[in-house]
Amino acid sequence: MKPLLADVSQSLGTDYYLIEELLTDEEREIRDKVRAFADREVIPIINDYWDKAQFPFELVPKVAELNIAGTAIQGYGCPGMSQVAAGLVAIEMARGDGSFNTFFGVHSGLVMSTLAICGSEEQKERWLPQMARMEKIGAWGLTEAKHGSDSVRLETSARREGDQYVLNGEKRWIGNATFADVIVIWARDEDDGEVKGFLVEKGTEGYSTELITGKMGKRAVWQPDIKLEEVRIPVENKLEHANSFKDTNKVLTATRGGVAWEAIGHAIAAYEAALTYSRQREQFGRPIAGFQLIQNKLANMLAEITLMQLMCYRLGQLQEQGKMTGPQASLAKMNNAKKAKQVCSDARDIMGGNGVLLEYHVARHLSDMEIVYTYEGTDTIQSLIVGRDVTGVGAFV
Ligand SMILES: Cc1cc2nc3c(=O)[nH]c(=O)nc-3n(C[C@H](O)[C@H](O)[C@H](O)COP(=O)(O)OP(=O)(O)OC[C@H]3O[C@@H](n4cnc5c(N)ncnc54)[C@H](O)[C@@H]3O)c2cc1C
Repeated sequence: MKPLLADVSQSLGTDYYLIEELLTDEEREIRDKVRAFADREVIPIINDYWDKAQFPFELVPKVAELNIAGTAIQGYGCPGMSQVAAGLVAIEMARGDGSFNTFFGVHSGLVMSTLAICGSEEQKERWLPQMARMEKIGAWGLTEAKHGSDSVRLETSARREGDQYVLNGEKRWIGNATFADVIVIWARDEDDGEVKGFLVEKGTEGYSTELITGKMGKRAVWQPDIKLEEVRIPVENKLEHANSFKDTNKVLTATRGGVAWEAIGHAIAAYEAALTYSRQREQFGRPIAGFQLIQNKLANMLAEITLMQLMCYRLGQLQEQGKMTGPQASLAKMNNAKKAKQVCSDARDIMGGNGVLLEYHVARHLSDMEIVYTYEGTDTIQSLIVGRDVTGVGAFV
């Protein structure tokens, strides 16, 4: 039996409640463009990169041609698409491949949003147009080895010396940071103890990275540990409006919804592959799609996908209207990461032994979902954010 992509890649069978009809022409166009890119450029080559834990640099100029980097950011050469369109980009990219979507999400989501939200006019003018064209690539460094979920307690320091800041410390798990042109570093100002954002440019002395190897998911995107040893940057590279962890949180809230959309892409890819497989795979003299227990699984998977889509569609509308709260974004991230992980796991089961083989694609999506479940705040942390919102009592410490 051969891998099943030709059959599944054009399927619209996961739009069960016709969300298509709610989209604008522009949103449909963006979705179709990214879907075609994923089908044509990403899916045919990605398993090999994933297997070898190599990053597909060959895809960077190709994704740049789509003019989607910076998604919903207005001006500065960015596309200024709707929040729903930005979500559809995440779905289609992740349906193609999670690693490449993470590369893109760090660059276009975390870093460009940080510049848009926290940058000065000069910083935006300097970086955003080049980043929208993907001539310059970004990385975003918050997490430290000792501070993941409690990143608010980060220890990397920034010391003002004349017209420079001097950064010292270590970061962990920083996507794209081995080759990025600009790295956002969150560090504690020694003067007032507040967490602030700084731009470290490629080649700055004292900045070094060591790639983390042996990952079981998102293998085709690189995250290194970063060392910052007396890294001197000009004061102009301090992000003008990143002056406390509240500002960091503004960025996290804006981008967290993207992870909820991304989870849908993984779930759709796995569901489509399992559905197609079940129609073709015969056991006990008939296609397994005809067995009640397989149909029950598929129906439940489709129900979860439909619920995730509806939740995200509304979240996108709220974000567009400036009404989305942090806990609302957390609820979507928590729900979708959990549900998509289960959908991928059920898809793998439906595909039996073949489900564990890379060439059938579902194993990659299932492993990638383990990462989605953890990054940008674990499932538990998202539930604590929602818990604090509904009870009025913080349970973090
Ligand atoms: C592949 C990958 C890519 C990443 N990319 C980036 C990136 O580009 N930039 C960046 O800055 N970071 C990045 N991260 C870091 C990611 O955001 C952190 O891994 C995540 O926030 C969890 O932190 P941690 O790994 O230190 O786990 P920990 O915080 O040590 O958590 C361990 C466990 O304890 C639980 N826990 C923690 N606190 C509580 C509590 N109060 N109550 C109950 N349970 C609790 C957690 O939910 C988890 O289950 C990435 C991580 C991965 C794996």
